[in-house]
Amino acid sequence: LYYQPIFALDTRCLGGVEALVRWLHPEHGVVAAAEFIDLAEDCGLIVPLGAWVLDQACRQHRAWLDRGIKLEMSVNVSARQLNQSDAADRIAACLSTVEDPSEIFLELTETALMQDLSKSLVRLAELKELGVRLVIDDFGTGYSSLSYLKRFPIDIVKIDKSFVDGLGSDNPDTHIVSAIISLAHALGLRTVAEGVETDAQLDALVRLGCDEAQGYLLGKPMALEDLEAVLASGQP
Ligand code: C2E
Ligand code: MG
Ligand code: MG
Repeated sequence: LYYQPIFALDTRCLGGVEALVRWLHPEHGVVAAAEFIDLAEDCGLIVPLGAWVLDQACRQHRAWLDRGIKLEMSVNVSARQLNQSDAADRIAACLSTVEDPSEIFLELTETALMQDLSKSLVRLAELKELGVRLVIDDFGTGYSSLSYLKRFPIDIVKIDKSFVDGLGSDNPDTHIVSAIISLAHALGLRTVAEGVETDAQLDALVRLGCDEAQGYLLGKPMALEDLEAVLASGQP
């Protein structure tokens, strides 16, 4: 499991991490999730893999807390995991090591939620009962319906990299990101920008009032040992 730092934009402090799975391949080395997640989805391996990821992430969250390090932990959850009839029970089992489930953020994509709307509503309510918080990942790229922003019990909107890319110049992306942030804040939701790669993008996000950011500019996804060094400094 790799971890990518997420920084608060007002204080510039490290507030959390996103857990991202990696495949340590004997020939190809460290393989990014983008290269194999779809395959894992197709063959169903995503269900046990996802359970392993969440379990690991929860244990790590606990290990940090035991050392006095308070970090929010974001974990991606796939549609296949969510569609399991006992999804909430499986997730609850992973959460058993966690002291405060409200520090665990489950990231779901629009596409995952839209597959079966009524089922998703029930499932998300079950997850909220567990005390975790919910994030809409890649916001704005899927089969978006603004209605679910009010219908789903979401806590965070994660602004997709494709909109962040154009920030910093007079570009439609700037207006879209501005609108997403305004809308999210009006609904009482936090905003996180992903895929921040340049200072111009970061400056624009600060100006637009985005709450948090992650991206190569601030920190790549990294192995635990490397993250520990960032933790020691606390700054991007
Ligand atoms: P995501 O959740 O939207 O994660 C962000 C992806 O963008 C990650 O790719 C990350 O390495 C990459 N990234 C972060 N900052 C930057 C940046 O500044 N520039 C660029 N170009 N890329 C950046 P990764 O790790 O390959 O993951 C791809 C997708 O696979 C994730 O998208 C997520 O949907 C899925 N995924 C990753 N880990 C898991 C997992 O444990 N379980 C499940 N179900 N899905 C996962
Ligand atoms: Mg994510
Ligand atoms: Mg994303």
